Amino acid sequence: MTARFSLLPSPFLDDPGRPRVVVTQGEDPYATALAALAAFDLGPARGCRVLIKPNAGRVAPSGSGIVTDCRVVAAACDAFLAAGARVSVGDSPIVGVRRTEALEASGVAAVAQARGCPVLDLDARRYVEVMLPEGVALDRLRVCPEVLEHDLVVSVPVMKTHMHTGVTLAVKNMKGALWRRSKVELHMLPPVPGHTERSLDVAIADMSAVLRPQLSLMDGGVGMEGLGPSAGTARSLGVFVAGADAYAVDAVACRLMGRQAEAIAHLRLGAARGYGVIDLGRIRVAPADFARFAADFAPVPENLAVAFPGVKVLDEASCSACQSTLMLFLRRYGKELVEYFPDRRPIIVAIGKGIEHVHPGTLCIGNCTRMHRANGIFVSGCPPVGSSILRAVTGAPEDPDPDPDPVP
Ligand code: SF4
Repeated sequence: MTARFSLLPSPFLDDPGRPRVVVTQGEDPYATALAALAAFDLGPARGCRVLIKPNAGRVAPSGSGIVTDCRVVAAACDAFLAAGARVSVGDSPIVGVRRTEALEASGVAAVAQARGCPVLDLDARRYVEVMLPEGVALDRLRVCPEVLEHDLVVSVPVMKTHMHTGVTLAVKNMKGALWRRSKVELHMLPPVPGHTERSLDVAIADMSAVLRPQLSLMDGGVGMEGLGPSAGTARSLGVFVAGADAYAVDAVACRLMGRQAEAIAHLRLGAARGYGVIDLGRIRVAPADFARFAADFAPVPENLAVAFPGVKVLDEASCSACQSTLMLFLRRYGKELVEYFPDRRPIIVAIGKGIEHVHPGTLCIGNCTRMHRANGIFVSGCPPVGSSILRAVTGAPEDPDPDPDPVP
């Protein structure tokens, strides 16, 4: 089914030109997140169908910094239930994670069920194709149907750095509303003419035309720094950020992470299109001195050889999908890789469409490097998964617990 979709304005946004954002800090994620939401009149949600959309894309426990803490989701459920809403909870995980497995592993499913809130498998039904008349990198999206059927969507992300997009916060969290493997397509787009930004960032801004939450509640209790969104280091900050303008929430979260929202391409592009406000001078933040809670989140390492000593990556025009595969592979199997190449330093890995020459023994990752298979160790796939790389290197049998498609 193809649909034109008009995004409903947020009933919680009193002044779109000067959005309000509330920051709370404390040790109890439930109470502190609830206090952030308490600053907003949720009365307009009465009788509405509300979808709580956490970041539950990966199988990880609450408090790991990888997924939204279930206690924050519990706070969102309770606040909207108290307002008289009909509340559901759901997410579409990254490809390879079994349906509601991530919601169960984080405890989100349990806290929702304990409150009588349905836990939705957003990938169970067929997608709705939504047109993007003003899209630049994309002209349509495949969206999980429940996301469009609810009256209100609440983005409940966890505060993380991201290897491709700088950060992943309330705006990008909505990428989990894309159906099954269609998320991967955003990582494999060609460069966008006239744009210096990655096509992924342009695509996220395109997505934001139709997938913007009416309210956001950021879990900065324990976030992630460094090699996010899944291979970084947990960072405890104890902050929670709420607001009706997801861009404004993200701008404040960026400040709390030691970043500037203007430096985050998808936020800058989306704000320029009028999807939200990232100028801190126009955002009414309470408390005004919220920056006292800030910490400098370690950036994503630019040099993989530093993050993974002994490995040199040749990357010529790769997609973020292959980059993700490689990063997660190195994170999970890097030590074993070094053992299989005891005499070779550095171990050379090649990814991307533009690799012209490789030295003998190079690990060639992804179909784009197929032409070099006679000269190295070739791993097919577009993108391949990490367990395939390990099998190619070791000749090991099929992994009974394969790592998921790594595209965040
Ligand atoms: S093999 Fe990797 S770099 Fe090549 S198109 Fe596929 S994902 Fe992109």
